[in-house]
Amino acid sequence: MTIQHPYLQNLFADIQKRNANEPEFLQAVAEVFSSLEVVAYKRPDLLEAGIFDRIVEPERMISFRVAWVDDANTVRVNRGYRVQFNSALGPYKGGIRFHPSVNASIIKFLGFEQIFKNSLTGLLLGGGKGGADFDPKGKSDGEVMRFCQAFMTELARHIGAHTDVPAGDIGVGAREIGFLFGQYKRLQNEFTGVLTGKGLTYGGSLVRKEATGYGLCYFVQEMLASKGTSLAGKRVVISGSGNVAIYAAEKATALGACVIALSDSSGYIVDPKGVNLAVIKEIKEVRRGRISEYTQYVPHAEYHPGFGIWNVPCDVALPCATQNELHGEDAAVLVKNGCIAVAEGANMPCTPEAVDIFHENGILFAPGKASNAGGVATSGLEMAQNASFLSWSFEEVDCRLQQIMKNIYKNCRKAAEDYGCGDNLVAGANIAGFLKVAEAMLAQGVF
Ligand code: NDP
Repeated sequence: MTIQHPYLQNLFADIQKRNANEPEFLQAVAEVFSSLEVVAYKRPDLLEAGIFDRIVEPERMISFRVAWVDDANTVRVNRGYRVQFNSALGPYKGGIRFHPSVNASIIKFLGFEQIFKNSLTGLLLGGGKGGADFDPKGKSDGEVMRFCQAFMTELARHIGAHTDVPAGDIGVGAREIGFLFGQYKRLQNEFTGVLTGKGLTYGGSLVRKEATGYGLCYFVQEMLASKGTSLAGKRVVISGSGNVAIYAAEKATALGACVIALSDSSGYIVDPKGVNLAVIKEIKEVRRGRISEYTQYVPHAEYHPGFGIWNVPCDVALPCATQNELHGEDAAVLVKNGCIAVAEGANMPCTPEAVDIFHENGILFAPGKASNAGGVATSGLEMAQNASFLSWSFEEVDCRLQQIMKNIYKNCRKAAEDYGCGDNLVAGANIAGFLKVAEAMLAQGVF
């Protein structure tokens, strides 16, 4: 991935100096800049207005101490973050991640990507992201609740239904959103749509839980349709077994595919007959267990420790676990095994080398900021329902989600074509997402 445009090249060198210890953030900026060179050549007005310089600098970045007491009465300290990256299109919006790997680089890369993703949804959403280096694994419900309460005690002063509306991400599901919402309400003494992904009894939206995974499959259907085919009859491999992976598997199966492998950070299962989703949900959603337990329920399936899931031959690969989980070597194996399409359910799961290999070999490739945008889009629909005190039916939300994913695909293809990038969806997503934000920033003056 090289940047040739002299202005962007100089700017990127400066960004590297200023963010020297942030490899994931630099990776995300390099990817976006290499797509935007064509825009920089066509739109000198955006350079003059400093749009590129401003868009890479968060409007605000908060880092804070989260002190809480565990079940053994020991005081624990974690670090919390919220990056409020860009509000040109609307209130900051983006998930909260609880994972031991969370640091400033990861939160900034996620927040930066979120700007363009939210723009692509067509809704009025700015970009933000947050999290903490807290590991919910192995913690009791009481510990998770106390951590969430401590985290929200600081975060509450920075967010609001019209300011910044967080949602879930890795390690933050319905349980955590409930605890965070409860604490916000207690502190502010107001019941507002300050978080999305809420439970259905207190303002959540139908389809939000399923939205990222379902939206991913809707996007894949559009991509495959451009080659005259569909998910029906395809062997699908999905990494991860969390929220995104489970509902991608559910929708892919409903569309006639056979999902043959899923994973977690310890290993992966292969079930040639198609994974039994009721079993997966029981293990992962009810018991919070490990994917290895699948073979206790389904003896004909195999469990393999380690992260070798991309060696399983498939037609469609959906990386839905975490960033940089699919490397160049994995991409080469997928190509060799005849895979025809790869779509990112996770954020930046494919390394730049892997993406190059997909493009060089004519594999259909969907970048996460387009293909996993269904989650935040449905969060936007949750905000609309909260603001109007209404709840839409499952069918209504699902229908809007499908339409949004179709539009994202269409807009990415059009932007790529308009800027001479053929059918490259990485370029299309970056260009289409960027231009809308850039126009709004131009109109709103320098700040
Ligand atoms: P969950 O916490 O529900 O699930 C994450 C899954 O990924 C788990 O199976 C987990 O395994 C696995 N995983 C996490 N870290 C690693 C790692 N370092 N190596 C291998 N496997 C790992 O998260 P989500 O499903 O919500 O999120 C998955 C991805 O999708 C993330 O990149 C997230 O940013 C992205 N995303 C999520 C959206 C949403 O609506 N939830 C929206 C858009 C994008 P284990 O349990 O062993 O840790």
